[in-house]
Amino acid sequence: MHWQILIALVLAVLAGYFLPVSVPYFYWIGELFLNALKMIVIPLIFSSIVSGITSMGGGRSFGRLGLKTISYYMVTSLFAILTGLVLVNLIQPGVGADLGLSRSVDGLKLEGLSFKEIILGIVPSNVFQAMAEGQVLPVIFFAMLLGYFISRIGEQSKKTLTRFFDAFFDVMMKITMFIIKFTPLGIFAIVAHEVSNNSENLLQVAGSMGMYMVVVVAGLLIHATITLPLLTRLAGRANPLKHFKNMLTPLLTAFSTSSSSATLPLTMDAVENNSGVPNKISSFTLPLGATINMDGTALYECVAAMFIAQVYGIDIGFGQQMIVVITALLASIGAAGIPMAGLVMITIILSAVNLPLEGIGLILAVDRILDMLRTSVNVWSDSCGSVIIAKTEGEELKV
Ligand code: ASP
Repeated sequence: MHWQILIALVLAVLAGYFLPVSVPYFYWIGELFLNALKMIVIPLIFSSIVSGITSMGGGRSFGRLGLKTISYYMVTSLFAILTGLVLVNLIQPGVGADLGLSRSVDGLKLEGLSFKEIILGIVPSNVFQAMAEGQVLPVIFFAMLLGYFISRIGEQSKKTLTRFFDAFFDVMMKITMFIIKFTPLGIFAIVAHEVSNNSENLLQVAGSMGMYMVVVVAGLLIHATITLPLLTRLAGRANPLKHFKNMLTPLLTAFSTSSSSATLPLTMDAVENNSGVPNKISSFTLPLGATINMDGTALYECVAAMFIAQVYGIDIGFGQQMIVVITALLASIGAAGIPMAGLVMITIILSAVNLPLEGIGLILAVDRILDMLRTSVNVWSDSCGSVIIAKTEGEELKV
């Protein structure tokens, strides 16, 4: 599968670059693939969480798992942000950068969610509406409640519901595996489309935005190849390289689709079936991670905000930089797992430290490619988290 996806990627770049006229004829295959992933994601998350939590039997282990998961997410996102902060202060990509690249941001919804709105959004007033709109956090919340209270009802009903949701989850996983078979085709169409849309634009801006891109990419690389593997090795006593190989399909899909949510079905499949994390752990950590744990996005938010400040010649002192760190963390938690969500959330940071919102126009041109990279890092961190948490719970894994 990995090889097929890699070949699909190479062919897609060639087709998108040299034969852009052909792309409209097959792009629908990519849309079909994305639709299929989005179709499965809510029922998959829902059934997976309910069956995972009922199998834990509620109570203590559930609370401990929750605490560990949230702590891992906060700590790794902070590590990522600090990596970005150090690099952007050292390299200063925005000092003396070309302002002529600024673009208008018409059509981009500029207001991000406030922290209060994020919290309020967790408890849905209508869970079916939340499902229909693909809002992941409220669905996770409802599924957790359902799973928890199933383990608190009478023996007979508990058995019936547990078996029902186990079976429901099994069949969702089967459908997921069926959809995964089409990954190379889907990726080919999506990437060819992206390349044909952006190639000229990208080459042109890459020169002048070079240093900014270098800082983001270097930060992402450091986080993905040093920080996270070290944590996996030290805190999880697992083999990060082996785990990375197991994760290639979801990582390449995250790269191609720029969406952690759409990639979630593949992430769950790889983490459970390749790396051996039991469902009772991955069912909770992965959907939550795809929504609130975005290390790549957090790092990018911080670098982008600092870059904008540097370009406008606005001095950001230590205190202000700490506000950038905190708001970058909140923005990454609030960003949805969909393409370009992180770009919009930068407004939170910019307004917190009084930077001009139009600054977003500066980084718009190269957002697409950075989105692909940061989404892969987001998914990689979720998967490492599952492994680490499973190991610290005493599970035997394949990595
Ligand atoms: N596209 C990212 C994701 O789905 C979010 C972002 O835009 O940073 O993980």
